[in-house]
Amino acid sequence: MPEPSKNRTIKKNYSIKTSGELSYDKKIEIIEKILKLYPDEKLDLKYSNEFELLVAAVLAARSKDEIVNSATERLFQVYNSPDQFAKLKPEDLKPFVSKINFWYKKSEAIIQISRELLEKYGGKVPQSKEELEKIKGIGSKTASLVVAAAFGKPAIIVDTHFQTVAKRLGLISEQESDKPQKIEDKMKKIVPENKQAKFSFALIRHGKKFCSIRNPKCSTCPLREDCRFYSLN
Ligand code: SF4
Repeated sequence: MPEPSKNRTIKKNYSIKTSGELSYDKKIEIIEKILKLYPDEKLDLKYSNEFELLVAAVLAARSKDEIVNSATERLFQVYNSPDQFAKLKPEDLKPFVSKINFWYKKSEAIIQISRELLEKYGGKVPQSKEELEKIKGIGSKTASLVVAAAFGKPAIIVDTHFQTVAKRLGLISEQESDKPQKIEDKMKKIVPENKQAKFSFALIRHGKKFCSIRNPKCSTCPLREDCRFYSLN
């Protein structure tokens, strides 16, 4: 493939043009490449225990990590346990989280989650994804993120970055790209358990660094030679 010019313009249609996926072997090759490119990636969210991570993850849905970190830095100095959050009203959290999208709904969810943790789990955050997902207000992505980052368990964390990069590289098909559960199931079959969390963090980092939805930086991307999106656009 010719070297792309620095000013190469990416066409406005960002979707892969065929629904075909890469072969299993090629997927494994790309996964290994991504793990080598980002060997020690971690979450950008700041937290000091699993409950704080759970709160930060709920706040981070469709919001920027920097804004969440700035809010939780102050929030966790005042409230940082299910016991404390369970007694609050959403308005009590407003001074800390009002800059975060959907702050009221998210505050309601965090308070409700705290109450359920106290009632059913002795105030502890469950360590399995299945148990976490039983709690109202905790979705699949948040549950995966908590078990992977807080408890070091295997998990595929499917956020928008993961979806975008996996689709563009051809690790998943176009048809699957808006179905997080399908993506998770498929990637779990390909990525070994002991690499699932690392791979998730790595792919998310690649999305943030190079492969944003609106402005992929293909000309400087270290994966461009392997990228279906790049070869088709
Ligand atoms: S070349 Fe890189 S930045 Fe461009 S679409 Fe592929 S993975 Fe994303």
